[in-house]
Formats: sequence, C-alpha cells, structure tokens
Amino acid sequence: MTEHNARDLNSPRRVMAIMAHPDDIEFICGATIAKWASEGQEITFVLGTSGDKGSDDPNYSSEKLMQTREDEQRAAADVLGVKEVVFLRMRDAELVADLETRKKITRVIRQHKPDAVVCQDPTARFQGSYIQHPDHVAMGEAVLAAIYPSARDRLTFPDLLNEGLEPHKVSEVYIAAGDDNVDHFIDTSAFLEKKFEALKAHASQMGDWNPQDMIARWSRDAAAIARTRNYPGAEEMEYAEAFKYINIGY
Ligand SMILES: [Zn+2]
Repeated sequence: MTEHNARDLNSPRRVMAIMAHPDDIEFICGATIAKWASEGQEITFVLGTSGDKGSDDPNYSSEKLMQTREDEQRAAADVLGVKEVVFLRMRDAELVADLETRKKITRVIRQHKPDAVVCQDPTARFQGSYIQHPDHVAMGEAVLAAIYPSARDRLTFPDLLNEGLEPHKVSEVYIAAGDDNVDHFIDTSAFLEKKFEALKAHASQMGDWNPQDMIARWSRDAAAIARTRNYPGAEEMEYAEAFKYINIGY
C-alpha cells in the first residue's frame, strides 16, 4: 500500500480553489487567497465555466466573452499571486452536478494533489433577497463529491488510472457557506486592497459598478460574526472572510 499523499509539513501547502465562474473566487475569498499566496502556499484556480453567458452586451458572442473572461481571470489570479488557472470550459448557466462534471473535477484534483480545497456551498440555494446561481450550487455539490469519495477511491473512474492519475486524499475543505453555517474566520484586513484590485481585473463584469463598499461591508460583517462567536483573534479583526471548515483528518 503506497502512501498517496502523506503531507510533507516542510513543503508549502497546496491549495485549490474550485468555483463555477470567473470572478467567483475573487468575490468570495480573494483576500484569503492573497494572504495564503503571500505566505508561500501554492494555489491553483479551477473554473468550471468560463462565464460565457455573463454579458448583456450585444457585441459579445459567447466565444468572445469566454476569451475575455479567461484573460480577466488570469489577470486577477496574477494580482493575487496565483500562478496556475485551469478552465474546465463547461457551459455557463447549464452546469449540473452529474458524473461527468464530478469526473472532470476528480481528474484535476488527482493531477494537482491539493492539501486543501476551497469551494462553493451546495446547500445555499437562497439567502435573504438573494437567489443563488444554480451553477454555484451544482459546482459545490460536484466538488464535494469529487473530494469524497471519487478522488480518494481507486476503483472510481478507473479510466483515470489509465491516464496515470492515482487516487488522492484532500485533507481540508473550506466551503463558502452562508452566515448561519460558517465556523472559520480568516483575518483579511491586510489584503482587502488586493481583493479590490483583483476584482477590477474582471472589467467585463464590473462596468461602472465599483463593488468596494459592498465587499468592505461583507468583510466587516464576517468579522462581526467572528466576534459574536468569540472566535480566537476576532477582537483584532477589522475585515474577515468566513468559511465552513472541514478537516477530513488524513
Ligand atoms: Zn458565479
């Protein structure tokens, strides 16, 4: 029995953020990513779609929009200190958590062998006045199913073995959950400006809109939740990003 991925604690942690659309990672956890990258962690972004429906501008075909949004996503990753971006190029607004999607994500997990994965929340269908994009729900479900059990299990998707992709155990999961379910808070105060800068790279999505006030409010709210929970270090947090954290214990 070989040890697939006993973690060498002397090497940098490998992190993979896997989300549905270009700009999702930056909105949800851009400051955390910038912080981790500044600590030397090796981060890969995986985008389920290239956001080919995300414009009302009649000058954009889906193909042209895909190209634009992939360029914007690479630029945003660069701002945050992330060197590798993988596009799975499934169709925007048509993402489903079927076996094909699960297999694509399993493949990329086995290729990159992340210690930790950041993903969306498959249970967050609506909150307040906000209806969650169905791609976010589908991607969250497919990512969790890929982490456990299909990336881990040798006999699942056996053709991946033929591609040379051995099973891999992801140890930690950070889910971008709703306020009621978060239990892990990261102080992002020093990285808020980086998050703003990364969001600016998604110019096709921003138009004249500047999301900084909204992002600052979300981040202050997350820090406030941390304080109400007496989370360690919360007293010093001005801005935070919040997750549901799962340590699988491998
Ligand atoms: Zn999205």
